[in-house]
Formats: sequence, structure tokens, C-alpha cells
Amino acid sequence: MKIPFFNYSYEFKKNRKDYLKIFNNIGQRGAFILQSDLKKFEENIAKYLKVKYAIGVANGTDAIWLGLMASGIKENDEIIIPSHTYVATAAAIHMLKAKPILCECKVDGMMDEEDIIKRISKKTKAIMPVQLNGRCCDMDKIKKIAKGYKLKIFEDAAQAFGSKYKNKFAGTFGEFGTISLYPAKLLGCYGDGGILLTNSKKIASSVNQLRDHGRNDKGKVVSWGFNSRLDNLQAAILNYKLKNYKKDILFRRKVANYYNNKLINNKNLQLPPPPSLNKNFDVYQNYEIQAYKRNKLKVYLQRKGIRCLIQWNGDPIHNFSKLGFKNNSLKKTTKYFNNCLMLPMNTSVNFKQLKFICKEINNFYKKY
Ligand SMILES: *Cc1c(COP(=O)(O)O)cnc(C)c1O
Repeated sequence: MKIPFFNYSYEFKKNRKDYLKIFNNIGQRGAFILQSDLKKFEENIAKYLKVKYAIGVANGTDAIWLGLMASGIKENDEIIIPSHTYVATAAAIHMLKAKPILCECKVDGMMDEEDIIKRISKKTKAIMPVQLNGRCCDMDKIKKIAKGYKLKIFEDAAQAFGSKYKNKFAGTFGEFGTISLYPAKLLGCYGDGGILLTNSKKIASSVNQLRDHGRNDKGKVVSWGFNSRLDNLQAAILNYKLKNYKKDILFRRKVANYYNNKLINNKNLQLPPPPSLNKNFDVYQNYEIQAYKRNKLKVYLQRKGIRCLIQWNGDPIHNFSKLGFKNNSLKKTTKYFNNCLMLPMNTSVNFKQLKFICKEINNFYKKY
């Protein structure tokens, strides 16, 4: 049985006729840049996430970068981020000549609050939690630290569109939050895309200008800016996808539940928490387990046709010595990365495949 980690053409093939209609409609109207579909998408997102402003930008990395700029982050400011994140989180900070300060993850992979405190200095301006794998960090603890040390919170919610903590959506806790619309992300478009979320009118109007050559809503240039707009065609595709999004999340939660039921008794594995409706409402961008003999398990599954991935190609940020980070300085995160593995988690897997995956994982450990 061949089970890819992610099937990039599945969703298009499934709804091909509708997508051709959308493409036809946009093409006939010649509606490509800053048009009504983008405006509608931004309204849809703001309404869904219960946030004042949602702004479509070129990608999730730009969303962070523009948000930082709009928040006044400047040279030598320090921002604390987890090492278990994509290099993009750190790069957006670096590009403003500010400093990404790395902290550990806990045994569950989420940002370690106690380690955040150890990394705070006089130059620290903000904590940027990463809402990893579709799960929110312990936001009460992070908010408490931020308040105590007078720091801002910026949220990298690239992997957590629709995830909630105490009934509040990921991306809406701090000064601003960001979402990635990369194809393999929860809400993926057909190329690159991102969203900046904020309740601050000041940040919203600044990002609106920064993403569009410094122009205000009347088209007048009033500040320096860049070009980082979400394409109208992508927005039209996303408006269509958004209609099924709640169903998509429920399906992912069912998949997580299935994995949990079939693998929970395997003592060689540590699983993410099963779906709950209590403090965390998880949306499972990824299903990241920790596994004894992880590398051997991965090869074994690959031979059976099952593709699993190690997040960030196995490299947390503190491994990037070429970027100036010291190797192996974060022991807990290094340990986590020796064992972590992502099982197929998407809307194209079926339960026959899931049964096979779980059976083969359990078989592997019978042999070792
Ligand atoms: C995907 C991702 C990003 C970057 O988003 P792009 O849209 O690819 O630029 C940033 N942070 C995290 C945690 C991500 O998973």
C-alpha cells in the first residue's frame, strides 16, 4: 500500500470542476490584485477567528516580518522563540536586524515556559510562541510571563489556523498573529500565501500600507512599503476551501483519535494528546509522535510504502551553525529531535490506510 505523507493534487482533483469555474470567473473579470475576493476572504477570516483585522499577504514568513515591522521592532531588540520551529520564524526577526533568542521545547514539543524566563534580558521585547502542529501553547502561562516582564506577545500561528485555547483562536492572543497558507498547511492555497491577524488598528493600517508599496486606502503613497499582497485568485480559491474547513478539522481530529486508540498501548511511543474539547482544541496540522528507534522505524515504514517525515528535516534552529547558532546548546530540544516523527495527517488519508499504518508500526516493535 502506497501512502504519501501529503498528496498535493488530491484536493484539486476532487473538486476540479469547481476550481475551473473559479479560475474562469477570475480570468474573465481580470480580477487579479487587491480585488473583491481578497476583501471577502479577509472579512471571512476576521469573522471566523473573531479578530478585528485579517490582512492577506504573500506568505506566512512575510506576515511575521511585516507584523514585527509594524510593531516597531528594530535593531538589537531580542525576541524569544522556540528552537522547534521553522527557520522562517527566526529569519523574519533577523531581517530586521533584531535577534531571535532560542528556547527549549518541553517533552510535548511545545515552547518551554520555564526556559523562556531564563532567556529574558534587558533587550527582550517580546515572546513569540509557535502554535505548533495545530496546538496552542499554554497561553495563560505565557501571558503571565509577558505581563510580569512587560513583554509583548507575537504569535506564529502558521500551523494553527482554527486551533483554540480556552475558546480563543490561535493568532488572536498577542499584538499580532500570523497564519501560513502554504499548500500543505491546514488551509492551503495553490501557491504561497499568508495572513496577518491583529486587533490593533495601528498595526493593521501599517501592515496594509507595508504590503502595498506604502499606499493608504485611497491609493496615495504615505510611507515606505513593499509588495506582499495575497493574490486575488488565491483568495477566491481560499473562500471556496473555507466553506469545508470545519469539516476538514473534524476529519483531522478523527484521524488523531484513530491513531491514539490504536497506538496508545505501544510503550515505545509517546503520542500527542488526543482531541479534547477542554482547554485545547487541537486541529492537527501534524501528528508528531516520539518513537523509540525512530530512524529504523521510519525506514521500516518506508519499505512498506508509508511515508513519514521528521519535522524541519530533522534540524531545529539551534543546529544552524551557519546562521550563527551554537550546535547542541539546547539539550531538551536536541533530545526531542532524536525521537520525533510525523505520521501521515491530512484530509486525503482513509481509514484503511490508517489501519495499515498502525498495524505496521506495532509490527515493527514486535520484531525489535
Ligand atoms: C510554514 C511555517 C512558516 C512559514 O510560512 P510560509 O507561508 O511558508 O512562509 C513559519 N512558521 C512556521 C511554524 C511554519 O510552520
